[in-house]
Amino acid sequence: MGVMACNRKDCTNIMCDRYSFDHGYLCDECLEELKKFVGCKQLSEDELEEQIIKFMNHPKHPRKPVDVSAMNANRIDAIFT
Ligand SMILES: [Zn+2]
Repeated sequence: MGVMACNRKDCTNIMCDRYSFDHGYLCDECLEELKKFVGCKQLSEDELEEQIIKFMNHPKHPRKPVDVSAMNANRIDAIFT
C-alpha cells in the first residue's frame, strides 16, 4: 500500500482521499483551496486544466474567502474523484 501524499506543492498532508489520473493525490484542504482558486471564473476544459496545474505548483498560504460557483466546484469534484 502506497502513501497517498498530497501532490500540491509544499503540502505535507498524507492519506488523501482524492485522486486524479492527471494530477495525482489531493487532500481535502487543498481541494477546497483549489475551488477557491478557480472561484467563479468561466473556463473551458483546457483552461480549467491550466488552472489546476497552476494551483498544484502554487505554494500553500492562507487565502481570503472568495465565492466559488457551484458549477466549478462540481467540475473539480468530478476531476478529483
Ligand atoms: Zn494538500
